[in-house]
Amino acid sequence: MTDLNNIFKLIDNSRNNIIDLLLKLIRFDTSNPPGYTTEIVEYIREFYDGIGFRSRIIEGFRGKPNLIVDNNIDGDTLFIYNGHMDVVPATSIDKWVCEPFKGCISEGFVYGRGAADMKSSLATIMYASKAIVESGYSFKRRIEFHFVADEEVGGLYGTKYLVEKGFVKGRYGLVGEGSVRNNVIYIRPAVRGGVWVKIKSYGRPGHASNPKSGVNAVLNMARVLDYIDREFKLDKLYSHQILPPPSISPGTMIKGGVKENVIPDYCESTSDIRIVPGMGPDTVLNHINSLISELKMVYPEINTELELVKSIAPAEIPLDSPIIKLVSNAVYEVSGYKPDFLGGTGCNDATYLINDAGVEAISGFGPGDGALGNMHGINERVSIDILVKFTKIYASTLIKVDSLDG
Ligand SMILES: [Zn+2]
Repeated sequence: MTDLNNIFKLIDNSRNNIIDLLLKLIRFDTSNPPGYTTEIVEYIREFYDGIGFRSRIIEGFRGKPNLIVDNNIDGDTLFIYNGHMDVVPATSIDKWVCEPFKGCISEGFVYGRGAADMKSSLATIMYASKAIVESGYSFKRRIEFHFVADEEVGGLYGTKYLVEKGFVKGRYGLVGEGSVRNNVIYIRPAVRGGVWVKIKSYGRPGHASNPKSGVNAVLNMARVLDYIDREFKLDKLYSHQILPPPSISPGTMIKGGVKENVIPDYCESTSDIRIVPGMGPDTVLNHINSLISELKMVYPEINTELELVKSIAPAEIPLDSPIIKLVSNAVYEVSGYKPDFLGGTGCNDATYLINDAGVEAISGFGPGDGALGNMHGINERVSIDILVKFTKIYASTLIKVDSLDG
C-alpha cells in the first residue's frame, strides 16, 4: 500500500495542476456538431508521450480522430478506460459565469463546457496515470486508454468505429461518464438503450373548407401520438433493478401538410423510446402497433406505417463483476464509503464495449455530477474536491487492475 499512499500524496500536492489540466482540455472547442478532435488528440498524445506511454491515432472521419494510449506493455489488454473528448455546443453564453470554452474557477468549482461531461474524467485519468509513473510504480499488465470522438452524436466515428475495426479488445473496462450525484459517488453498472421510431400517417387530400372531403393525416397523427403517450405500457411490463423503467417521448419531430387550405394527406413523426435489458426494437414496434390498432377501433380512417429509424441496445454487466468490486474498494479508500449503484436515463458508448466488443465494462464511473454539474446546460461545472478525489480513485483503480486475475 505504500505505493498508493505515495501516489495519493503526489495527487494532493498537485491540486492546481489537475485544475490546469482540466482547463486546458476545456479550451479545445470540441463542440459536436461538428466535433473536431485533432487538436485535443495532439495535446493528450503529447501528455502521454511525456510519461512514456505509447499512442496511436485512429481516424474514422476526417477531423475526428480517436486516440488509443497504452502503458507500453505488450500482450492481451486487461483493462480499457474509455472517455469521450467531444462536448455538446454551448448556448445562452451571456448567462455563463465565464466563457464556456475558456473556463474559470469559482467557489470550489471549475466551470466550462465539458467540465462535467466529461473532460473532468479525461483530466483525472490523465493525471492519475502521471502520478503513478512519477511515484516510480511500474505496471505489469497492459492497460489502454481510449480517448474517443463523436459520443455526443451516437459514437459512429468514435467507440463504435474502434469496435468495428477491431481496436477494442480487453477483459475489463470502464466508461468515465459521470457517476456522482450531489457530491456522492456511485457506480453505473448498466445503461438503457434507445429506439427511434418513425410513424407515417396517410390520409386523403381535400379542400380544407370542406373537412369531410378528405382524411386529415396530421390530425390522425395527433391522435396517434397522444394515444401512445397515454397508453404506453412497456414501463409496466419491463423493469430493471437499477435502471429507470422504459419511457417514451412521442413526437420528438413532426412534419406534414403542404398548404394552409389543403387537407394534408401525409404526416410523419418520430418518437424516442428508451428500453432496459430484455427488450429490443421489436418489443417497441409491436407495442406501438398494437396501441395504434386499438385506436383504429375508434378512428377507422387512421392509416399508419411504422419504420425503425435506429436503435441502440441496452447493456449491463453482472453486479458482482470483479471490476465493480475493485472500483468500489477504490472509492472506499478515498471517500470512506462503499458506493451504491445508480441508473442513468441516457445511453452511452458502454453499449458498444459491452455488447459488441465483449468487454466487461462499467457504464459510468467518473467525476461528473448529474445533479450539481449542469451537464449539457448553462454553467456546466465540476467540484474541485471531487476532481481531486477521482484522480486518486482512478489511480487506485489502475493499480488494483494491474494485479487482477484474468
Ligand atoms: Zn458524456
